[in-house]
Amino acid sequence: MLGDLLNNLLFKQATVTALRELSPHFRQLSLEAGWLKGLVYSRGDKLQVQVEPPFTLRTFTPLELDATRGTMQLLVFAHGDTPAGRWVRALKPGAGINVFGPRRSLELEPQGGDALLFGDETSFAVAADWQRVRAPTRPLRCVFEVTDAAESKAVLSGLGLGHAQVVEKRPGHLVDIEAYVRSVLGDQPGSHLVLTGQGASIQTLRKALRAPAAPHADQRVKAYWARGKRGLD
Ligand SMILES: Cc1cc2nc3c(=O)[nH]c(=O)nc-3n(C[C@H](O)[C@H](O)[C@H](O)COP(=O)(O)OP(=O)(O)OC[C@H]3O[C@@H](n4cnc5c(N)ncnc54)[C@H](O)[C@@H]3O)c2cc1C
Repeated sequence: MLGDLLNNLLFKQATVTALRELSPHFRQLSLEAGWLKGLVYSRGDKLQVQVEPPFTLRTFTPLELDATRGTMQLLVFAHGDTPAGRWVRALKPGAGINVFGPRRSLELEPQGGDALLFGDETSFAVAADWQRVRAPTRPLRCVFEVTDAAESKAVLSGLGLGHAQVVEKRPGHLVDIEAYVRSVLGDQPGSHLVLTGQGASIQTLRKALRAPAAPHADQRVKAYWARGKRGLD
């Protein structure tokens, strides 16, 4: 009873209405809750989910939020036998979950103009959600470092990001990503540059793009995870 009281005080509740296994490592969750109706949120906001009671929280990005119907989609990359991986693999439709947020994280709005997003599997949701509200004449350019290119491409196509550049992780792959980023910024010098995903890759890329300086409008940065750190936020 004390646990329930604490949960009700700290968290908002949502119901899992559907779960789609998009691929061996990607699960799409459909959530429904009354408090989502009329909710105002901004692309890039984060949602913290209780994956193990009482206090093990993991952070995700709304893949889609429909404030009229009171529904939200999440995309979870289950990379291993970790709290989030075990949680999402055990979830069943009808389950209730406890969440905190959504709250501000990566400032993406308002941003007109061209934009290029770097990230990895944990960034597919933010990219798909942001692309949806951008003008069709200015599609979001994306480049993702991934573990399995075939799996990622299939998932990205389903999310409307079939045009994204996908580079498999291997020694030196960030050199190829830097070259791609430079070529896009060369074509579209006033682009906004957004760097997400693994902290160490963001650091390497930022350093590489300084010498010589790659032309871009501004830079937004948010690390979504770091090797050896749990539940980075
Ligand atoms: C603002 C924000 C938004 C995010 N949005 C999403 C999202 O929409 N979808 C999504 O899937 N993730 C998202 N993430 C990333 C996710 O929260 C982390 O990957 C989280 O660590 C996963 O929890 P876990 O229990 O699997 O692993 P943890 O217990 O947190 O970590 C255990 C170990 O696993 C390793 N690890 C963590 N993440 C990864 C990874 N992705 N790939 C390989 N190794 C990893 C690290 O070495 C870590 O020490 C987001 C993170 C932030 C901060």
